[in-house]
Amino acid sequence: MSAAASSSSSRQVRGAAVPVPSLSADETGAVADEAFQRHTSPSLRRGGAGVAVVWFRNDLRVLDNEALVRAWAASEAVLPVFCVDPRVFQGSTHYFGFPKTGALRAQFLIECLGDLKYNLKKKGLDLLVRTGKPEEILPSIAKAVSAHTVYAQKETCSEELLVECLVSKGLEQIQITQGGTSGQKKSPNPKLQLIWGATMYHIDDLPFTVNNLPDVYTQFRKAVESKSSVRNCSKLPPSLGPPPSSGLDEIGGWGAIPTLESLGLSVTKSEKGMHFKGGENAALGRIHEYFWKTDQLKVYKETRNGMLGPDYSTKFSPWLASGSLSPRYIFEEVKRYEKQRVANDSTYWVLFELIWRDYFRFLSAKYGNSIFHLGGPRKVVSKWSQDQALFESWRDGRTGYPLIDANMRELSATGFISNRGRQIVCSFLVRDMGIDWRMGAEWFETCLLDYDPSSNYGNWTYGAGWSSLLQVPNITKIWIEQYKQRNIFY
Ligand SMILES: Cc1cc2nc3c(=O)[nH]c(=O)nc-3n(C[C@H](O)[C@H](O)[C@H](O)COP(=O)(O)OP(=O)(O)OC[C@H]3O[C@@H](n4cnc5c(N)ncnc54)[C@H](O)[C@@H]3O)c2cc1C
Repeated sequence: MSAAASSSSSRQVRGAAVPVPSLSADETGAVADEAFQRHTSPSLRRGGAGVAVVWFRNDLRVLDNEALVRAWAASEAVLPVFCVDPRVFQGSTHYFGFPKTGALRAQFLIECLGDLKYNLKKKGLDLLVRTGKPEEILPSIAKAVSAHTVYAQKETCSEELLVECLVSKGLEQIQITQGGTSGQKKSPNPKLQLIWGATMYHIDDLPFTVNNLPDVYTQFRKAVESKSSVRNCSKLPPSLGPPPSSGLDEIGGWGAIPTLESLGLSVTKSEKGMHFKGGENAALGRIHEYFWKTDQLKVYKETRNGMLGPDYSTKFSPWLASGSLSPRYIFEEVKRYEKQRVANDSTYWVLFELIWRDYFRFLSAKYGNSIFHLGGPRKVVSKWSQDQALFESWRDGRTGYPLIDANMRELSATGFISNRGRQIVCSFLVRDMGIDWRMGAEWFETCLLDYDPSSNYGNWTYGAGWSSLLQVPNITKIWIEQYKQRNIFY
């Protein structure tokens, strides 16, 4: 084990959860201010008219949020909205009825909303929060403020696509009138404008259409690396304000960010492992901590397969999944680090991993719902068990295999496990227990702070072996033999 790898586990202390990032509030604030300053351009001009609504989804950030900047440019006033959708916060997973969003992720998202509201306010706006279905809320809000367009980030998976479709239909049905009581005139219905923003490489810059996406990761990676480039982060104007001057009272004001209690959830704070802080500022703080403050980036390739503590890998995934961090911002920071400090295999490897993330996102667009089906996109026929007792022993960390149990307990207690840990518990459930992989995937969907449908189901279907191109070995046995260090969760 390298010196860097052993130091990565040394911060893990029994009896105290390690905050990620571990910066003070002042330090985080200073880092965020500096990042915003670097991405603000006083020369930006807006040329639009009327009101634009921004519907925040899995893009809970201000920095490098193209939907937000496009809405600003196309209007005279912007209304940012977040819908606390009961299907997401209180619903159940598709096949097995686990909670759709576990309490730890809900708490993380609440913190993301807090930071989003704070950063929007700093830019002259605010965040309107409503509980309910977007397809019911957005048309009535658009009508109240006479919006011409609702801007939102484009998604790729079926549940999100359905909501997009319903919102669009809902907007078609409303009628907006403008002007005073005398001489009122009808305006066209507001439109839903969906903007791509979830990946490092923009979908329009791929060297192939999504339908022709290579099925082998290496082919995909080599093609984008040689033929595409990552766009710069979008610049922000000094102010995004004002919000609309009328219509807000009619719809009951700005509303409040939910609490865990209001969502009917509660968490028992873990005193072990890592405690992730939600929000855009925390995300910017984590990049600062991992890249600039502790210089972990330069040893990432050697440490990334670790399992203990905050330092072995970037831990960016929870912020990426909620969209409180832009992958293009990470790209820019890696390039800045390479210029100012060092460029090596490790600095490249973070981008290599982010290309995996992009790849799963584009695969979900190519294969649609089949990534959620038992046989995966290749419709592989295989016999699976749904033995409840076996599954529960895996879920609750009671298999008797320390490596499996420690990882599963860590997942329940913190909402996070390492990439290696995920591969091992996935392989164990699927290959050793022979359990229907979707049960594992749905349990991850409940628990993971970084749950993202494309990455989660993409990785699970890989682990389940639907891809004939990737023959997954039974890694569990190898890893159990190599498992010398006792994880604190066991
Ligand atoms: C069964 C299984 C389920 C998974 N479910 C999810 C999920 O729901 N959401 C999620 O973000 N990741 C998922 N992953 C991928 C990966 O385990 C996590 O992204 C990673 O462990 C997060 O830690 P990190 O940010 O420190 O990663 P790092 O090692 O620091 O990597 C940097 C970033 O690259 C991306 N990345 C790295 N590996 C992968 C990968 N295999 N697939 C996709 N993106 C990757 C992530 O965005 C990550 O934040 C899953 C992996 C497995 C095996």
